[in-house]
Amino acid sequence: MSRSGKFKQPEPLCVSKKTISGYAEKIAKYIGYEPGDDIYEVINTLGGHIIYVHSWKEFVRHNQIDGTIVVRAPGDFDIFLASFYGMFETRFTLAHELGHYFLHSIDPNKEVLRPGEKPIFINRAKEEDKKKQRVEWEANRFAEAFLRWAYESIYNYTQGRANCWELYRG
Ligand SMILES: [Zn+2]
Repeated sequence: MSRSGKFKQPEPLCVSKKTISGYAEKIAKYIGYEPGDDIYEVINTLGGHIIYVHSWKEFVRHNQIDGTIVVRAPGDFDIFLASFYGMFETRFTLAHELGHYFLHSIDPNKEVLRPGEKPIFINRAKEEDKKKQRVEWEANRFAEAFLRWAYESIYNYTQGRANCWELYRG
């Protein structure tokens, strides 16, 4: 069953890397997240649920049907995570999905930003779509700033194509 009827693919914010980084750092600070802290705990505290997917085939199916993240309401979202990712990919992926939550399920026109206000789901459809690429680029910039780790060397080559998914195809 497709969720596309109720949940929308988000629009990119189209703000600068600097703005996204500043926003991510502010959120990390507000939550009290320090580099190396347990990101599972952060997601739990925010009301997120992690659903593990154990095979690539199942993962692709979930991505097409449920997306990589489904945000229902403030403090209510599911992240579909491949159990076969390594530690670094897992941390980055979770931070990236948090990026979608904080950047793409808000109403940017409102004075008080409320993550989860706009129900969204992100899937792998329309990868060639410029809007979708920009949405992924923004979530990656959020993840980098949120984690503040030395990920640059691992993720540099994804920046040109602004597509996080290439990384996981091997
Ligand atoms: Zn994404």
